[in-house]
Amino acid sequence: MATASSSRASSPPLSGLHLLLTYQCTFECDHCFVWGGPFQTGTMTLDTIEHTLDQAGLLGTIEWIYFEGGEAFLYYAILKSGVLRAKQRGFKVGIVTNAYWANSEGDALEWLRPLAGSIDDLSISSDSYHGSGETSGNPETAREAARQLDIPVDFISIAEPEASHVSGAAGTLPAGESAVLYRGRAAELLASRVPSTSWQQFTVCPWEELRHPERVHVDPFGHLHICQGISIGNLLERPLTKIMADFRPDEHPVIGPLLDGGPAEIVRRYELAHEDGYADHCHLCYESRRALRSKFPAELTPDQMYGET
Ligand code: SF4
Repeated sequence: MATASSSRASSPPLSGLHLLLTYQCTFECDHCFVWGGPFQTGTMTLDTIEHTLDQAGLLGTIEWIYFEGGEAFLYYAILKSGVLRAKQRGFKVGIVTNAYWANSEGDALEWLRPLAGSIDDLSISSDSYHGSGETSGNPETAREAARQLDIPVDFISIAEPEASHVSGAAGTLPAGESAVLYRGRAAELLASRVPSTSWQQFTVCPWEELRHPERVHVDPFGHLHICQGISIGNLLERPLTKIMADFRPDEHPVIGPLLDGGPAEIVRRYELAHEDGYADHCHLCYESRRALRSKFPAELTPDQMYGET
């Protein structure tokens, strides 16, 4: 029988750390997983970035460091310093942004030039939820500036709920678009726009590799998220090497049930009150986790991920 460590050895290692540089954002998108917005709190310090990069180096398997949010460009000096430090240490570096800063091609070149040569992927959020008409040209402007500076760029686009929903799963979408997942703010604002499916149907987590994660998110408070709002440890309290070595997914109070029988198993395991139907797997998972926060405060954290600040 495979042991936990031999099983890990035959699986892809943890290779990506995504730093949530800030929970703040210029926008308050309906589909945002992390409840980003202008009045959110929680921003990573340079010391925490430095510590996280140290930990990533010690783990030895991390290839990619991403800076995202919220909107990472809101804290430009810290973003720039973090990017340069990550690159100096030999990591591939990515940034996720809504390109609010690209008001003209000349401006966009000024913002991106100090980062050119240090970014291996600039992912630009571009869809009907990001921004209003007055800024809708920014993603294309940012892309053109990135192209001139030889910065690899791609777009992240989320389809409208009605365009992507088929019985709680992603339907057929145009190339480059993703379905809304109903967790975070999307659970509260968008789930009612699509038909619900019986809660008992949600017997797996379709989206995250919960047993052997290849990428995790680190937030400004050090929480290591295997999915937004599900912590497997705190990087400011324990070394990353120790968190990963001690990770026992079946013993985690939320990941364990998810592996056993998906979000429906969380409901059964903790005998939670529930609706008859939910928009998708994430909707049931998120609502169940919200109900369990007081029971598992260390694992279902922080408040920002649950819209409680
Ligand atoms: S089912 Fe739960 S753990 Fe899986 S992706 Fe959705 S919210 Fe995350």
